[in-house]
Amino acid sequence: MAVAAEAAKLRAQGANLVDFGAGEPHFPTPHHIKDAAIAAIEANFTRYTVVPGIPDVRKAIVERHAADFGSDYAIDEAIFTTGGKLALFNAIQVLVDHGDEVILPVPYWVSFKDIIQYAGGKVVLLETREAENFRITADAIEKAITPRTKAIILNSPNNPTGKVFTRPELEQIAALCQEFDVLAITDEIYEHILYEDEVHVPIASLPGMRERSILVNSMSKTYSVTGWRVGWVLAPPDLSNSIRKVHDFLTVGAASPLQAAGVVALGLSDEYYQGLAREYRKRRDHIINSLESSGFRCFRPHGAYYVMTDVSAFGFADDLAFVRHLMDDVGVAAVPGSSFYAQECGGSQQVRFCFCKKYETLESARNHLAKLNAR
Ligand code: PLP
Repeated sequence: MAVAAEAAKLRAQGANLVDFGAGEPHFPTPHHIKDAAIAAIEANFTRYTVVPGIPDVRKAIVERHAADFGSDYAIDEAIFTTGGKLALFNAIQVLVDHGDEVILPVPYWVSFKDIIQYAGGKVVLLETREAENFRITADAIEKAITPRTKAIILNSPNNPTGKVFTRPELEQIAALCQEFDVLAITDEIYEHILYEDEVHVPIASLPGMRERSILVNSMSKTYSVTGWRVGWVLAPPDLSNSIRKVHDFLTVGAASPLQAAGVVALGLSDEYYQGLAREYRKRRDHIINSLESSGFRCFRPHGAYYVMTDVSAFGFADDLAFVRHLMDDVGVAAVPGSSFYAQECGGSQQVRFCFCKKYETLESARNHLAKLNAR
């Protein structure tokens, strides 16, 4: 079900719908970042830049990473891209040849599977379970690896589960990557949205992994600029050289004034990121409270801004029927859980809510959700 299109249709018909579908932060973009983009446009900084991005923005990327994780990336190992999604597309195009296998933990962000298949790759699903805190065991990875395995996708903090991989979990995965010559493609776009004592660890920062990791990040969620389409990749020279070529071929480069804004964004102080996590934590607790009071069982997220729920208490045949009811009769849009699974019946009693919304939206949702009856 294309929730965004359905929600737009219902709204056009006059429905008062609270939308928990799309992962679009309701926060305003910090004014320093907007001012930097405006100043760049006013200064006619509006032409092509060098393909991987202006040196200042690549310097800002590697310096931020060095400060946060002690990494030693060179400026030429960073590429400023047109969003995280295209960065992933690009990395997978570079890495995956026809018939190569890529391990994808399930549930997964909806685009991974298509991106791998578009490159001619074979998706090898690795099931994870809420009861095991969505852990990936060494045993399961080892069983999934074949001589055609090129890479494993790691998305932490995770969309849709909110799973944050711990250092010991990543160390185990890193050891297998090295033993079996597998690369890690990491999607770290929610790295700053962490709850309680969670810590973000890029697998690339673990011993032996810098040279076998492609790290993807994005400005979209951290700075509330989903529509700007700006992100980046960090990868060792052999991979970043190839990724740069594909980036040139596909886009020539990211929008020049937004690169200038990226320099300012990446230079924001730690307080900005702490404030962001604090605000999201309040919203997480608010929505979990509303959902649990209305009969949902929530998978408590440790990071990112989504909450997966179990909806079996409502007695609907499947997630699609339940989401239809939510939209038509309750006035709330959310994403059917099966969108995040490839297996038959996977997620068929689950629904994902995105809570990067204004407080008024969360309050209004509480009232709508109170109409629901668990059986
Ligand atoms: N990766 C994950 C896990 C996402 O949830 C999203 C967007 O929702 C993206 C990548 C795409 O990010 P971008 O807007 O930077 O393309």
